[in-house]
Amino acid sequence: MKKLPDIKLLFKCYKTINSFSPNIILIQIIKAVTDSLFPFITIYMSAEIVDSLIAGSDYKRVFAYALLTVALSFGVKIISVVLSRILNIKYLVFSNNYSKSKSLKIPDLDYSTIEDSETRQKLNKIEQYENMNGGGLTSIYHSTSSFLRSFFTLAFSVALTISLFVLPYPSEGSLITKLTVNPIVGIIILVLIFVYVIFNSKVAVKCTRYANSEYSKFTFINDLSSELTSHIYYNKTAMDIRIYGQTEAIMQHAHEVMQMSYDINGNTNMYSLKKMHIPGELIRLFTQFLIYIFAAFGALAGRFSIGSITKYIAALSNFSGAIKQIMVTGEQLRYNCEIAKLYFDFVEIPSEMKSGEKKIAPQESHEFEFRNVSFKYPNTDIYVLKNLSYKIKQGKKLAIVGMNGCGKTTLVKLLCRLYDPTEGEILLDGINIKEYGYSDYLKAFSIVFQDYSLFAMSLAQNISCDETYEKQKVLACLDEVGFSERLASLENGIDTVLYRDFERNGVMISGGEAQKIAMARALYKDAPIVIFDEPTAALDPISESEIYKRLNAIVKERTAIFISHRLSSCVFSDEILVMDSGEIVQSGSHEKLLSDAGGKYHELWNAQAQFYV
Ligand code: ADP
Repeated sequence: MKKLPDIKLLFKCYKTINSFSPNIILIQIIKAVTDSLFPFITIYMSAEIVDSLIAGSDYKRVFAYALLTVALSFGVKIISVVLSRILNIKYLVFSNNYSKSKSLKIPDLDYSTIEDSETRQKLNKIEQYENMNGGGLTSIYHSTSSFLRSFFTLAFSVALTISLFVLPYPSEGSLITKLTVNPIVGIIILVLIFVYVIFNSKVAVKCTRYANSEYSKFTFINDLSSELTSHIYYNKTAMDIRIYGQTEAIMQHAHEVMQMSYDINGNTNMYSLKKMHIPGELIRLFTQFLIYIFAAFGALAGRFSIGSITKYIAALSNFSGAIKQIMVTGEQLRYNCEIAKLYFDFVEIPSEMKSGEKKIAPQESHEFEFRNVSFKYPNTDIYVLKNLSYKIKQGKKLAIVGMNGCGKTTLVKLLCRLYDPTEGEILLDGINIKEYGYSDYLKAFSIVFQDYSLFAMSLAQNISCDETYEKQKVLACLDEVGFSERLASLENGIDTVLYRDFERNGVMISGGEAQKIAMARALYKDAPIVIFDEPTAALDPISESEIYKRLNAIVKERTAIFISHRLSSCVFSDEILVMDSGEIVQSGSHEKLLSDAGGKYHELWNAQAQFYV
């Protein structure tokens, strides 16, 4: 197992932390200097005051020393408090930008990467470590504060105590002085301090490691427990849990899981108590005893002043504490570097999908062509689309039909570049779609996917996908999809908040209503290409037939693609594409396809017709 932090990675972490909140590390260093200086002012000045008293100095001198001590302590404290406040703000900026960096990475990723469960796992792992143990960059920031403070404490205590060992030793004196004040005792004390520090640091590192490994289990346990309990609160599952009386079982399970976490906490504390506190304390006490003797008799022998005794003792105890803390925080930095690596692995996932620079010509509609397109999903062997060739002419309305799983949605995913074809190419207005700028290309699409999402904000904001909106345009889009009647029943009109996640007066909408809102959102975007994937699946038969009757008026001159399991909807399209097992098996107008009695369309039509007579 590695003992030291990966220095290169650690510096990368600091660089990143600093880029999220400029100068934060510099201020941390200055604050560490002031914080560690603070106790040494009193330690040093107390010795001076005692010495002045013993030397019989006049009260003015003693008074001046006391005043200086207070003034220096006050000055350093004020600087520290001011720096604390600055750091608090800087830390908030850092936290904010840090979490933003993770959120903003997601839209930047290739869609295939987002769908890949490995990416999810990576992100979950980072979140787990950060939420439960405060791991990663956040912990590196905190451990660094502690590390720097210990480092400067060490430096100040060495500066104050070095004279205890190097000042000349008395050549004569009483037996007790000879026995206690000689270089050998000095060396023994240094060796004992060294042993104590090494022992303590090793054990402290062991304990930190043990705690970290135990907390890794804790991460999983807590995640599991909150996952379980969240089901009780979550709208979608709350109903089933109630009906099937699962609350008690879930709470019991969550309780057992929490019990495991208490055990881990207990184990960690016991481990550090056994391994560290008792034996370490014995060595420390013996060393301290020797230091007292060495310093006290040294002062009596005239090596240094009486006042220096307290100075040496206090500085030495700070010294060993600082070394131990350096080792512990060093281990924390090493551990958190590993977690920070997970973060870097995530934010550095490359985007494989190449995108060009070309802009899409501003026109009302466009032409698409699939040329020998075949496709299999990443990490799978089966071709979902097989050698498709088809041209969708400008402004035409195309319906794609076929059995479940024949590849209709996949075709749409390729069209809007969520994936690139495995073989072949797709052209927009005669140019390979990879040559267009990706975000510019996506602007050309208004799509309603099967599993669209609406959000717990106002109806208008859901439609404009923005904080602001054009009221008349929102109303017109809602009217086009047949939502006007329902809108009239809403007290707050288009400002009505959907769902009750954040708003008590939020409105719960039905699946059919949600689908209409999703369609209105697509219309509001006003893109030249419209794609509806099963747009009416949740609509009642009347709403559905109304939408289809108005479909041509809704999409106007735009190029439009509809995927629908309801074949009667295809009657309104200019052309129909019939797919089967990833292949185009038929294409043409409704009449033409229906007249082919042996064709797939005829078969599908007749199968559905039985249920709609
Ligand atoms: P349709 O829209 O016609 O119902 P899809 O295009 O959704 O069909 O799916 C076509 C095939 O691709 C199905 O066999 C489905 O299981 C598979 N598929 C869909 N999405 C993925 C994915 N992300 N990874 C692997 N296979 C997928």
